[in-house]
Amino acid sequence: MVRFTVLASGSKGNSTVVTGGCTRILVDAGLSCRELFRRMKLAGEDPATLDAIVVTHEHQDHINGLAVIARKLGIPVYFTEATHRAWMRWLTPRRQMSYAQWMEQCRRQAAERQAEAQPAEAEGEADEAEPVGGIGPDGIGTDAIGTGGAQSEVVQAVEAAAAEPPSARSDPTWLPAVEYFQAGQPFAIGDIDVSPFTIPHDAADPVGFVFRAEGVRMAFATDLGYVTPNVKAQLKGVDLLLLESNHDLEMLRDGPYPWSVKQRVLSRVGHLSNEAAAEFLAGGYDGQARYVILAHLSESNNLPELARVAAERALEGRASLLANRLLVAAQHEPLSAIHF
Ligand SMILES: [Zn+2]
Ligand SMILES: [Zn+2]
Repeated sequence: MVRFTVLASGSKGNSTVVTGGCTRILVDAGLSCRELFRRMKLAGEDPATLDAIVVTHEHQDHINGLAVIARKLGIPVYFTEATHRAWMRWLTPRRQMSYAQWMEQCRRQAAERQAEAQPAEAEGEADEAEPVGGIGPDGIGTDAIGTGGAQSEVVQAVEAAAAEPPSARSDPTWLPAVEYFQAGQPFAIGDIDVSPFTIPHDAADPVGFVFRAEGVRMAFATDLGYVTPNVKAQLKGVDLLLLESNHDLEMLRDGPYPWSVKQRVLSRVGHLSNEAAAEFLAGGYDGQARYVILAHLSESNNLPELARVAAERALEGRASLLANRLLVAAQHEPLSAIHF
């Protein structure tokens, strides 16, 4: 069975469930855990059956509920390494400190190192003791992604962490398991083949996906400033195309956003307008998909009818009984599940 269920789409939260064979993947975790579970039930999906979460990029509307959902379900999260790092930075922002505070911190750390080194030297274990000081979140992260590494160092780091007070111990970036993928390198999660591809967007390492299960291909392309030749190539020969139709150009220009934000949205690493989506549908798209879903509509700068009309016009020449059934994904309610 192959099923595609958009639970939420838009700048306030994105989540979709892709089902193929016995595997269920959550694409992005932009809703809170409670809201995700509520919508999954509404859409006839059981949260407990999710096998993994894949993440397109680290913007808040795609990862808001990520840690809580992954922990609650005990499932792995698939990121690119750069996106994982950006997500961790987002969760643990660095404190700003003055020069005097920085100097004080350096002095304190030097004193601590000296105090640690002295007894170790006496026992002749200076070489072993040293890496412990060097193990930061990176060492623990290495363990979490399952790529091995110096076990004893990790054990020591974990023991060191356990000795700290509970507030320091609770790590907001902890996930049950992390798997890395790279754009351009397909991989499989259970019965679903996943092909990630690079998209132009102002995030660390943003991707779109083509999912394939039981011969059905489903493409996922939102949060992209424009349709690059590579994106165009990826979106060929798909049975389902979920495509961003973020804003109406006039509404954005006349709308409430400050000029700097308007510039960002309009830029080559911003979001796809109704007009740009239509241009792609009329020209670059091969017209093969049974379903075309317009997604990531802005609530401030778009109307579902404007997005739909622009796409309908673009698809006019491709009307057929079997292809290009047009749907518009919403922010506040799930789209009816699409079955293949
Ligand atoms: Zn987004
Ligand atoms: Zn984004």
